[in-house]
Amino acid sequence: MPAGGGAARAEQIATLEGLAHERLVSPHIESLLNEWIDPSTGQAAEHWDEPSRSLLRETWRDFSRARKLPSDFVIRLSRECSLAQQAWVTARAESQFSKFLPSLRTILDLKCEETQYLGYRDSPYDALLDTYEPGATVGQLTPLFAQLRARLVPLLKRVQASKVRIDDTCLHHSFDHTKQIEFGRLVLVAMGYDFERGRLDLSAHPFTTSFHPTDVRVTTRVFEKDLPSCLFSCIHEGGHGLYDQGLDPRYYGSPLGESVSLGFHESQSRLWENCVGRSRAFWQCFYPILQHTFPQQLAGVPLDQFYAAINRVTPSLIRVEADELTYNLHIMLRVEIEQALIERRAHPEDLPSLWNDRMEAYLGITPAQDADGVLQDVHWSMGAFGYFPTYTLGNLYSVQFFEQAKLELPQLEEQIAAGQLVPLRHWLEQKIHRWGRMFTPDHLARRVTGNGVTPEPFLRYLEAKYGALYRL
Ligand code: ZN
Repeated sequence: MPAGGGAARAEQIATLEGLAHERLVSPHIESLLNEWIDPSTGQAAEHWDEPSRSLLRETWRDFSRARKLPSDFVIRLSRECSLAQQAWVTARAESQFSKFLPSLRTILDLKCEETQYLGYRDSPYDALLDTYEPGATVGQLTPLFAQLRARLVPLLKRVQASKVRIDDTCLHHSFDHTKQIEFGRLVLVAMGYDFERGRLDLSAHPFTTSFHPTDVRVTTRVFEKDLPSCLFSCIHEGGHGLYDQGLDPRYYGSPLGESVSLGFHESQSRLWENCVGRSRAFWQCFYPILQHTFPQQLAGVPLDQFYAAINRVTPSLIRVEADELTYNLHIMLRVEIEQALIERRAHPEDLPSLWNDRMEAYLGITPAQDADGVLQDVHWSMGAFGYFPTYTLGNLYSVQFFEQAKLELPQLEEQIAAGQLVPLRHWLEQKIHRWGRMFTPDHLARRVTGNGVTPEPFLRYLEAKYGALYRL
């Protein structure tokens, strides 16, 4: 879309959102649901089979949330978010927070209004969290983040104090664009990403979009002097793509044909990107192929050196480039700030200083300009308050699921080292993908691992991995 089309597009999307909302909350849908659902519990009668009960429960959830929002509010919010995104693009390009501030104020007011419609018990932030991660609350997340902070910040300090210096210059020579994409494609094929039902293309920011389990599209981006960027965004988006290809096509168009939560979706991308893609086992098979693809740059770089380079820890300003150890510290500061904004404990004009203070406290660095700080993410301009925690939940779930997969697939390590990734994809499809929203996120996590979300496996994994790499 040309930049000049932005305002008209905002109106078009707002109109569609309004129509979709009206249809969902129509008297017809309401009378059907009232026949089949006990509105006091949100549960369907016992005589329905399990998929039907789940379908009714989830449809009721969507309906009752939507019904709390007036149609004119839905249209207003959609329009303002489209406009704010355009203001954010300009503000970020010029690194001027003041150019985004008026839009941010508007969006924040609307999101606070939304929490009043949706209702909540403890914090208004809960109402927004529930949009992205059904069932998640501040009461659950606060201790979880506290446990992470208590062990991640000291671990980072120990890594920084280590005498081991990891050199990653081998990743920043000149790498041919086409060959980078071809290698990414090769890994996607090995993961079982089905190119009959999926595509790989280029875009400014990597993402995954899905129209049907038979039409899934992932994108990547390529930088000549940054080998990890294309490589890991292919694997990351591939993980999202496998989830979307693994949804049951029989349930297409219904809640059961949708992913269960954003935290679960992110767990799939992070499992493939980190637990698999940044493991030594994975590169035992794939590194010789990568060396063969880029002999001039990598022939003289041993596997151990390459493995260390792709796992180098370095506090950085930009979330999407963060390593596994510092990533959740980036999320933590965003969650603390947005929760304070929604609870009206912080003011939008103070955002840059709130941001920079926390960057200094958690990561020991301060951005020189807002484009590398508070303006870097699109989420707030989209009105996506409550979205950020799902990244951390995804990281925690990814390790929980991977540990469980190792228990149930005793050959997994050897299979990965031999480049056989399909057994893992199959396990994830059977355990997670195919179920869509059949179970709530917490119920599904318990079915797969026996536990709800917990930080312990993730912290153990990081401490072991970086303990070995940095000889702590
Ligand atoms: Zn992702």
